[in-house]
Amino acid sequence: NLSEKLDKALHVLKGHGQITEINVAETLKEVRRALLDADVNFKIAKEFTNTVKEKALGQDVLTALQPGQLMVKLVKDELTQLMGGDVEGINLSGDPSVVLMSGLQGSGKTTFSGKLASYLKTKKTKKPLLVACDVYRPAAVDQLHVVGDQIGVEVFSDRGNTDPVAISKAGIAYAKANGHNVVIIDTAGRLAVDEEMMNEIANIHKAINPQETLFVVDAMTGQDAVNTAKAFNDILNFDGVILTKLDGDTRGGAAISIKSVVNKPIKFIGTGEKMDAIDVFYPARMAERILGMGDVVSLVERAQEQFDEEESRKIQKKIAKNQFGFDDFLSQIQQIKKMGSIKDLMGMIPGAGKALKGLDIDDDAFKHVEAIIHSMTPLERATPAKLDASRKKRIAKGSGRSIQEINQLLKQFDQMSKMMKMMQGGGGKKMMQMMGA
Ligand code: GDP
Ligand code: MG
Repeated sequence: NLSEKLDKALHVLKGHGQITEINVAETLKEVRRALLDADVNFKIAKEFTNTVKEKALGQDVLTALQPGQLMVKLVKDELTQLMGGDVEGINLSGDPSVVLMSGLQGSGKTTFSGKLASYLKTKKTKKPLLVACDVYRPAAVDQLHVVGDQIGVEVFSDRGNTDPVAISKAGIAYAKANGHNVVIIDTAGRLAVDEEMMNEIANIHKAINPQETLFVVDAMTGQDAVNTAKAFNDILNFDGVILTKLDGDTRGGAAISIKSVVNKPIKFIGTGEKMDAIDVFYPARMAERILGMGDVVSLVERAQEQFDEEESRKIQKKIAKNQFGFDDFLSQIQQIKKMGSIKDLMGMIPGAGKALKGLDIDDDAFKHVEAIIHSMTPLERATPAKLDASRKKRIAKGSGRSIQEINQLLKQFDQMSKMMKMMQGGGGKKMMQMMGA
């Protein structure tokens, strides 16, 4: 992962009293490679290493007492700079201040709307109102009401109304009439960027002219997060980014690119499902996290574009140890989709691909499966056994799929895990029988 690679790259310098210009250049080449591997855009990575090099030479790294440590500091400072430098708050100068949420389905908009309302409520001068503008799924309105009840914040909704522009306007009018000085507008997302969603959010944006438009993105989605951010920014010219699901093992590699590509600050991060799992984004802390040591599976690895041998081996290992989870499942699906026509390619994919072949899954089914998995928490993805009735209910709400579909997916997942295990154990014959071949 990125940390290990950077660590390795800097290792050359750490503890070496003698340091040469060639040494610095070599090290920076490794740092650059690590950033590229982490899905950081080529240009950004190049600029990054050039800047560090200039600074290194400017600060006489070559003659410093502890050149390695100085280099580490330079890399960390520069990473910090890359992710935004200073901390930026949100603009709440309006009366009422209107905050508009945007982002894909499952990114965490509804959850973050609640977190932000709760966060602002503790500042005694703020009286927030939540407005439910996800009109496509009745469950979405329910979800926001549940959140509102939980944190003691009023929720404005209009179940008969299917026009999100009208609802957002009515919500703001209601806020004015009832002394709410912050209005948080929760909107609908799609699984991928599409014209309908973009038009809808653009229309709301135009109609209400919010003080603060926030783009919410799942930190676990890697390079996709950057592409989505760009698409939304082109339409909305948003004010800030909310990076969610940074709890657990997620390293936050996405933060590096997003800021550079859209040049908008990351303002808050989400670090859990609960309403208090919200943190102001500190670039320096994130740089430390990215450079942090450890052996956890990183975002970088999750976002890896191709099936390389290492990936395949890793998955085999996980299968053997019964650690194959929904994240792996999801990444397999994403890999397969990226590679083009599913049927043609099934046979090419090592390990899981062969097992998937036995299951009749088409592109549409993928979408539903992805929706369900996106609505799971990292914990649930890693340990599907934890999915009890109440968790399933929550996931059903979040993904817009039925409990039956979730049960079906769990069954499929279970079958797939078993099949893969069998294949590993040399039980190829038995599996062929199972698949009816
Ligand atoms: P929306 O479709 O954009 O409104 O997304 P939701 O707010 O419904 O969130 C989708 C799923 O992600 C839900 O199951 C949330 O509980 C979960 N979620 C949201 N933010 C976080 C977070 O920061 N950490 C974790 N672990 N889960 C989160
Ligand atoms: Mg929602």
